[in-house]
Formats: sequence, C-alpha cells, structure tokens
Amino acid sequence: MTRLIDLPTLARLVHGVGVARFLELLAARIAADFARWPEFDKSARTASHSALGVIELMPIADATHYSFKYVNGHPGNPALGLPTVMAFGVLAEVDTGCPLLLAELTLTTALRTAAMSLVAARALARPSSWRMALIGNGAQGEFQALAFHHGMDIAELCVFDVDRAATDRLVRNLAEAAPGLRVERAGSVLEAVRGADIVTTATADKARATVLTPAMVRPGMHLNAIGGDCPGKTELHADVLRGAGIFVEYEAQTRSEGEIQQLPADHPVTELWRVLAGRAPGRTSAQQVTVFDSVGFALEDFSALQVLHQLALE
Ligand code: NAD
Repeated sequence: MTRLIDLPTLARLVHGVGVARFLELLAARIAADFARWPEFDKSARTASHSALGVIELMPIADATHYSFKYVNGHPGNPALGLPTVMAFGVLAEVDTGCPLLLAELTLTTALRTAAMSLVAARALARPSSWRMALIGNGAQGEFQALAFHHGMDIAELCVFDVDRAATDRLVRNLAEAAPGLRVERAGSVLEAVRGADIVTTATADKARATVLTPAMVRPGMHLNAIGGDCPGKTELHADVLRGAGIFVEYEAQTRSEGEIQQLPADHPVTELWRVLAGRAPGRTSAQQVTVFDSVGFALEDFSALQVLHQLALE
C-alpha cells in the first residue's frame, strides 16, 4: 500500500512528537545513514536550469530502499506569493519496486536541511558554541534556528536579512516557538556575525553573492553555508574558503553546486561522512575556521522519508 503524506498529515506527525524531537529524530537518522555511506548507490542530482530558477531530481538507493525527491529553487517566487523551494518525494522497496510512501517534502526539506546542519555542526563546531548569526531569514531560517537552539544549546541568535519583513516574521515566529532563545536584530551582516561561534548563511539569490568576506570571519568560527547550492550561486568570498577546513556532503555534486565551485577542482575538501564514520578528522584546532559547504544531498531526503514512514506506521 502506498501511503500519502500531504502537508496537513506532515504537520500532524511533526506536532505529534514536537518540532525539537522531530529534528532530533531526523538528525539521528541522517548521522546513522551518513556513517554507512558506502552502502548507497549515489549520483549527483539532475538539474534543469532556467533563467528564473532550477528544477532538480535527486535519486538514491541502498539494498532495500530507493528514494527520489523533486525540488525546485526559484529565488523570485516570494514576490509571486510562492515559496522559493517546493518539493515532494517517494520511498520505494528495491525488491518489488512498490512505492511505500509519497510525501510532501517542502516543509520536510527545511527540517532535514536544519537537521543536516546540526549533524555537521556537532562534528565540526567548537563544543562550547553558544551564539549563532543567521544571515537570510526566510523559510529555512526558522528551522535552522530551532535545530541549533534545541540540538546544540545555542542560546543567543543574531539575525539579519536585506528584507526587514523577513526578519520581522522570523523574530515573531521564534518568540512563540523558542521562548528561551535570545534573538537580536542586526543592521548588517558585519554586526550580526560579531562574537558569533557559528554563522549560518541561508540567503537566496541566483548569483555569485559575497555575503561573508574574510574581514567578518574570526578564528574558530564554524560557517554553516546552506544558501549557495547551484552553479553560479554562492555566498562566501573565495578567500574565506581558502583559509578554512572545508567539509561537503557528496564531493561530485558539491564541486559544481557548492561554494567550492569558486576554487580549483583539486582544492582539498573532506566528505562529511568520513568524519561521522571516524575515518577523517573534523576540526583540527580551536582556532581553525570550519565550513560546511551544504548543497543538500539525496541521502538526507532518503533519511527524512524513512523517518516519516516510521512515524506514519506508528
Ligand atoms: P527564502 O527565499 O525563503 O529566504 C531567503 C532570504 O534571504 C530572503 O528573506 C532574502 O531577503 C534573503 N537574502 C537574499 N540575499 C541576501 C543578502 N545578501 N543578505 C541577507 N539576506 C539576503 O529562501 P529559503 O527557502 O529560506 O532558502 C534559502 C537558501 O537556502 C536558498 O538559496 C535555497 O536554495 C537554499 N537551500 C539549501 C538547502 C541545502 O540543503 N543546502 C536546502 C534548502 C534550501
């Protein structure tokens, strides 16, 4: 039987366990699946680019399950009353091809991206981290804030967006969803990152942006760069990358989609699964700047679909 998880059903499932617990379930499943990375049949996603955005298909399989996600990225959508990112996905049995689950993945993408950021930061950021800057206060921002507050004891968040209305919305939502989190508004990126242990960039612009420059980065910072996720779309100045330890999801995909598209193809990076599986070191000193150059990989959606399927069965 194919189960359908539409948005109201997903909202019920998430509220049933609570957002913090749901993010933790996702993070645990993602960490466990990344640690068994060699078991997956992987490929970079197929992308269909247009002048205004991109539509992508993201397949992956292990010996028992196959999944794919359909997802778009259209930075101009909010002006049309549509989200920048919309998605759905399928989880199927490998042996029979039977589709077990057809699920909305728009909200789920924001949740799984936040959970993935959390998994990376737990492995890479200084354990004493307590203050985060959040640049880009749109749809992903709220879940990033919740994941880091609940999952990494981030107590103080400094937020900035070029669109004041986006920050207004975020601040309002967080006051309700995370009353224990101190939220400050900054007037610029520079002001927001001052004193931050972790900087999350979640901006949407179909362009080579330089949201973070070397002058803004301090020794020991962990940069959680999630907005640069397409060819021609970046957020960090290339010199920020040159001075940092860089960690990626799937190198074959990130070379063309991530921040590292700005660097030579042989610039060293570490696939995060190697750190999670104990095969490579993460941060090498308290002074090192670490970058999680996140673009979003099919395995994170596979993990999310597994969590949704389990909750739906329960
Ligand atoms: P969104 O449109 O809801 O929010 C983006 C926000 O960034 C907007 O409020 C916009 O005003 C702001 N912004 C744009 N340029 C800025 C700048 N220079 N400085 C400060 N703020 C700026 O989009 P979203 O759904 O929150 O997605 C954010 C980004 O994350 C997108 O680029 C999206 O493609 C990417 N994304 C990545 C992953 C991943 O796994 N890495 C997953 C989902 C989305």
